[in-house]
Amino acid sequence: MTIHQRSIPASIDPAKLDRLAEAAIRVGLNLQPGQDLFLTAPVAALPLVRKIAEHAYKAGAGLVTPILSDEEVTLARYRHAGDHSFDRAAAWLHEGVAKAFAANTARLAIVGDDPMLLSGQDPAKVSRAGKANSIAYQPALEKIAGFDINWNILAYPTASWAQRVFPDDAEDIAVARLAEAIFAASRVDQGDPVDAWAVHNASLRGRTQWLNGERFQALHFSGPGTELTVGLADGHEWQGGASTAKNGVTCNANIPTEEVFTTPHARRVDGHVASTKPLSHQGTLIDGIQVRFEAGRIVEAKATRGEDVLAKLLDTDDGARRLGEVALVPHSSPISKSGLLFFNTLFDENAACHIALGQCYSKCFLDGANLTPEQIAAQGGNKSFIHVDWMIGSAEIDIDGVRDDGSRVPVFRKGEWT
Ligand code: ZN
Ligand code: ZN
Repeated sequence: MTIHQRSIPASIDPAKLDRLAEAAIRVGLNLQPGQDLFLTAPVAALPLVRKIAEHAYKAGAGLVTPILSDEEVTLARYRHAGDHSFDRAAAWLHEGVAKAFAANTARLAIVGDDPMLLSGQDPAKVSRAGKANSIAYQPALEKIAGFDINWNILAYPTASWAQRVFPDDAEDIAVARLAEAIFAASRVDQGDPVDAWAVHNASLRGRTQWLNGERFQALHFSGPGTELTVGLADGHEWQGGASTAKNGVTCNANIPTEEVFTTPHARRVDGHVASTKPLSHQGTLIDGIQVRFEAGRIVEAKATRGEDVLAKLLDTDDGARRLGEVALVPHSSPISKSGLLFFNTLFDENAACHIALGQCYSKCFLDGANLTPEQIAAQGGNKSFIHVDWMIGSAEIDIDGVRDDGSRVPVFRKGEWT
């Protein structure tokens, strides 16, 4: 790679890229003076990594430490590594990251890899490598899921991703279109991103305040292929937009974000549900998911594509068959209105109501910061090595809130807030 190629591609607006980096530091992380920052990114996202380092140090960062990944290096493992390689993970790295989090280091993840990078590889190897990594990642994931520190995920328009989203366009056109979609969804396409996010956070707060006041014991989803009752955890709390980590820093963990979300009860989910968008998981696509729950557990699972990958995912551990999140997103969300399928959860989950298999977020409980893992489990919080979101919302979904006395309150009709 030459110096020239590392500069901002001509198809990406440098002013908007700069505002995205500013949004990452000032809104996404709200990085504090003196705080260290650990970030991961594809090597193709280097122009954004550099901008972020600049804004981080201007905000008073102590030390910015990036780790870059590369698609060709990832593929080299699948093409050339011996079988023994696929049960390995860099546990030492994750342990070090967990140590950094314990010392109040902030965490930033830039996504942008080709969402189908591993689709031609042996699903058994992909699954083994994923599982080994999930297990090794656990010490760090606990601190992320427990919201110990301020963290943020945002996206960079790499060429390989852009060509999946816009397969009929030339590379530079595809990158330009994906870049504009990311900038719009991330609210950096016009004016001051800090102001735009303050307005957006206030509107999401209005939704969470209403839901937290209602204290529904369950949500009932109805739509094509879906009749699902999702019991909510005892003492659940709805979250959305900005929230405050245990280190006291108020941040926006996802850019973009359109969802309000809470913790389902791991043992009180019943009925059947169909996915409404394909799910890109570890480089493979799972589509047409249909599952049936009994007492919180998935007892039947089908998919029209990637069924073997789904089956392996569900077999990760017992918690992988139970829900750790339920989220509400109107069908009219800006990301949904873009009409694009990003093949990336950060975007696609903000286009539709969704549920997540696996680990719950302790911040989605009242006084969650002070609950022990045992208390969270007793209140219905799920525990797993995985957390995988998939989309169940559409313009045809109706949702009722169920009160303790069994009465129902319309929450969504035809995919929109009532
Ligand atoms: Zn979500
Ligand atoms: Zn999620």
